[in-house]
Amino acid sequence: MVLDDLGSSLRGTLNDLRGKSRIDEDDVGEVVKQIQRALLQADVEVGLVMELSDSIEQRALSEDPPAGTTARDHVLKIVYEELVELVGESTELPLEPQTIMLAGLQGSGKTTTAAKMAWWFSKKGLRPAVIQTDTFRPGAYDQAKQMCERAEVEFYGDPDGDDPVEIAREGMEATEDADVRIVDTAGRHALEEDLIDEIEEIEATVAPDVSLLVLDAAIGQGAKDQAREFERSVGIEGVVITKLDGTAKGGGALTAVNETDSSIAFLGTGETVKDIERFEPSGFISRLLGMGDLKQLSERVERAMQETQEEDDDWDPEDLLEGQFTLKDMQRQMEAMNRMGPLDQVMDMIPGLGGGMMDQLPDDAMDVTQDRMRRFDIAMDSMTDEELENPRTIGRSRVERISRGSGVEEETIRELLEQHKMMEQTLKQFQGMGEGDMQRMMKKFGG
Ligand code: GDP
Repeated sequence: MVLDDLGSSLRGTLNDLRGKSRIDEDDVGEVVKQIQRALLQADVEVGLVMELSDSIEQRALSEDPPAGTTARDHVLKIVYEELVELVGESTELPLEPQTIMLAGLQGSGKTTTAAKMAWWFSKKGLRPAVIQTDTFRPGAYDQAKQMCERAEVEFYGDPDGDDPVEIAREGMEATEDADVRIVDTAGRHALEEDLIDEIEEIEATVAPDVSLLVLDAAIGQGAKDQAREFERSVGIEGVVITKLDGTAKGGGALTAVNETDSSIAFLGTGETVKDIERFEPSGFISRLLGMGDLKQLSERVERAMQETQEEDDDWDPEDLLEGQFTLKDMQRQMEAMNRMGPLDQVMDMIPGLGGGMMDQLPDDAMDVTQDRMRRFDIAMDSMTDEELENPRTIGRSRVERISRGSGVEEETIRELLEQHKMMEQTLKQFQGMGEGDMQRMMKKFGG
């Protein structure tokens, strides 16, 4: 996907900054070099790359990190903000009645996108309709009709018609009851004069509230000219980047967004009607940087914390990040983690912990099933407070005693102690991050 390599190369560079309280020109130069390389490889236009890297460089060297922020966090935050700025906000698409026109070259994914968007709006409780005006491409009618049937949305087209403008006019009348009308237009292999004339006429007929340019993620530098041409003829409010599920780089599409001074509306990630995502800049960039979706993580952690706290008022999960990790902590932690979802996924969403670190742990380090937890619970009931606070004092004879008292096999109790050790180790890595508590970190990047 776009800038796929950026995350890993950048993480390495940023990790080298860990522990430094100040960063110098060489450090910033290295970070900027990595970003430039990744962006250029992803086909982002040179001028745009230079603009972005200059801005990162200048900010990283002139802005002072806020108190308590490490140099690494500071740089990461600037990179994050500048990349969010580059991709821009998501195109505004209010959930209300409107007409949306799709433009783009043949094969870019317009017809597919029209049905996908209709499906998306229908899931938001609106009543969409697709109007197919492409009389040029054989099969466009059948394809659109089938996809709309699959998406269970209204469809208008004329298999025998040869005047797109006329079909557009009839389509608008025929779909009067719909809230959101999505007008698909014909594309050609290249930009031709008659294509532009035609789309201008359709535009005049349907008077769209929003015109979106559909671009294949594989498009390279050609995106710029195309975008400029469509912008000049019908005006482009937003871009849909399709086929992001492939190996395409997507940088050309980012360039087009910049060229048309527009923004990204949707991402296409597959061939079925459901393979569409509303573009969300902060989540998108968080993922690119290998920081996972910090906003989502923050919500999940918060919810889990709340639920755990409702059951146990004295316990603050943040204590885990400081001081001793007891068996009681482990028990609560397992409960909280079970509510949040698989721990490896949660860890992946935390900066510095994602990618790689989890691989260093045994596969089952965090795999605590409900059933095992129940047996652990029973065993812990037969432990003394001292043992719960200091699991290291539990030797072989104590394991025997606990097993006799609880009826839980010795093997399971040894597993419990092993599990505790592994979790303790993992949490030490959290503590070693030197970035204060999770909350603060998440607030900073959560947007
Ligand atoms: P149009 O000529 O612009 O209307 O393009 P189509 O909608 O016919 O799409 C061209 C081809 O790209 C079709 O084979 C689609 O199935 C495929 N396609 C469209 N969007 C995506 C996508 O997001 N992912 C993948 N993998 N294929 C897509």
